[in-house]
Amino acid sequence: MAELIGVDLGGTKILARFIDPETGEGRGRVKRPTPKTGPADVLKKVAEVVDELDPQRSAPAVGIGVPGLVTESGVVTLCPNIDGWDSEVDVAKILRKRLKRPVAVGNDVNVGALAEHRVGAGRGFKDMATVFVGTGVGGGLVLNNRLVAGTRGMAGEIGHVTTHPGGRKCGCGKRGHMEAYAGRAGLEAEARRRHAAGDKNMLVKQAGDGRIKSSFIATAIEAEDPVTLELIEDAVQALAMAIGSMATLLDLPLIVLGGGVVDRLGQDFLDRIHRSKAFGGFGNHVCELRLAQRLDDAGVVGAAILAADACG
Ligand SMILES: [Zn+2]
Repeated sequence: MAELIGVDLGGTKILARFIDPETGEGRGRVKRPTPKTGPADVLKKVAEVVDELDPQRSAPAVGIGVPGLVTESGVVTLCPNIDGWDSEVDVAKILRKRLKRPVAVGNDVNVGALAEHRVGAGRGFKDMATVFVGTGVGGGLVLNNRLVAGTRGMAGEIGHVTTHPGGRKCGCGKRGHMEAYAGRAGLEAEARRRHAAGDKNMLVKQAGDGRIKSSFIATAIEAEDPVTLELIEDAVQALAMAIGSMATLLDLPLIVLGGGVVDRLGQDFLDRIHRSKAFGGFGNHVCELRLAQRLDDAGVVGAAILAADACG
């Protein structure tokens, strides 16, 4: 298949590359800062970046990953991670007109899932999901070899399922969501709350006023710091409950986990999630948990694959 263009539209930068959607291999690279003056300027810049990469307009289609909620037709319904983006925008329609060729738009975590599915840890599986545990917890869902976006673009947002009714406050403002227990930010907030209440712990001691990095979490687990072990057990339970339920509900044979926290804690962490009673399951249904392959430029690669799927 011909090379397509993949674009990773992030909160701070826009990156575009030519991508072979079969292999995930990339060529060329144009990177520019993301304007903070609203969606019109952002989309103008995206078009400029694509034109700079491909002045001859040789690529037959363009795929774009966006850090917000995106419907299957490419409408961005919510995009709080780009400063100044405060309205619903039909990104696919606007850029199709400007770039004069088909344009596919997807959520950045979702297209990352597509990259893992096609050229990463999920190769060969028809159905799978990804769960990325970083500052927050995001996810993507691939069913029957196609990315599922959902009516409002919310499919796969596993971080915001409730695992602890009425529990800790989530980054989204609601309570008891899985992300508040498993995401790095939720873990940090709770570690600091306990530290201030007299429950001193290694996480806060290592970080001081800085961010509690995933490496600090790994060190504190190693040293068997009691508060850290408790917080990690909570995280394991929350992840097991959400992931196990998703696997059972959708009959998924594979879930690929990645993100800063998982990359740092590795296969042991996955095994604990899998073994947890909270994982549940039905009959002899087996779901494998695998580490993500941490592909280079996964967002760009996944965006190009999304465009290939949309055009193919
Ligand atoms: Zn939430």
